[in-house]
Amino acid sequence: SITEVEDNEEDLETRAPIVTVMGHVDHGKTSLLDYIREENVIAGESGGITQHIGAYGVTLDNGQRIAFLDTPGHEAFTAMRARGAQVTDIAIIVIAADDDVMPQTKEAISHAQAAGVPIVFAINKVDKPTANPDKVKESLANMNLLVEDWGGKIQSHDISAKTGLGVQELLEKVILEAELLDLKANPNKPAVGTVVEAYLDKGRGYVSTILVEAGTLKIGDYVLAGRTHGKVKAMHDERGKVIEIAGPSTPVSILGLDGAPQAGDKFHVFEDEREAKDIAAKRTQLQREQSVRTQKT
Ligand code: GDP
Repeated sequence: SITEVEDNEEDLETRAPIVTVMGHVDHGKTSLLDYIREENVIAGESGGITQHIGAYGVTLDNGQRIAFLDTPGHEAFTAMRARGAQVTDIAIIVIAADDDVMPQTKEAISHAQAAGVPIVFAINKVDKPTANPDKVKESLANMNLLVEDWGGKIQSHDISAKTGLGVQELLEKVILEAELLDLKANPNKPAVGTVVEAYLDKGRGYVSTILVEAGTLKIGDYVLAGRTHGKVKAMHDERGKVIEIAGPSTPVSILGLDGAPQAGDKFHVFEDEREAKDIAAKRTQLQREQSVRTQKT
């Protein structure tokens, strides 16, 4: 097993929140993630070609950063949680104002609550003539979820993921929530984090998106992720830009692992390459034994 050393209070620094967008189908999760990505990632970039790497970071006008998991829906959230990974700090739950609180909205709310993750509601599609944000807030109130406009403490903002109305204000509310959480990490140690996605690319080999949660990842670091391992040969951000180092709350796409780790796998940087290889080999062996056992039963 891997022992993680407790950080000293004085080594901790404020880190950006990691946000997941959830909600009922067609309520606008993808549109919101796309709008935020396009406004904040592509804007001002020459070329403006973004890679879909499963996560991206944005920097607001005031310099504050937010990391988004770019997989809408709670499947990713629950898949990661099932693997023991809890990377989300804040959940944005999108509800269409021309609809209502729906079954998957309720599921998303219970997932966030079960994980102890604060919710910011995005009441979406307010550009539509049929939109009735107050009806949605009333439904939430009936579920004992009182948003600010209704005298409660839960943050919500009326938005249009189509026109962008209210989106910056929504992000400012996410930042407020993050400040309450007082999120911190030690950037000055070997990196640890979670795998977001991975695939085999013809030509480049295994490409893995990982979210650094603490420490700083550097090119040349030796990484163990689930049953895979390898030396980081290259790192790219969501703009496809080459980066040399990635600190806490930074999503980064890396080359160099000998396989595709699974979403939700933890990764660790090892100073001793041998040790990483041994653990990866042991995990592979264990996995083989387990699959033999399940075949027998
Ligand atoms: P998801 O299933 O939650 O990811 O929903 P999508 O983002 O795919 O949106 C579903 C549909 O609603 C698409 O046709 C979007 O163009 C539309 N949509 C999303 N947000 C808005 C909005 O703010 N206003 C309007 N008018 N349409 C929207």
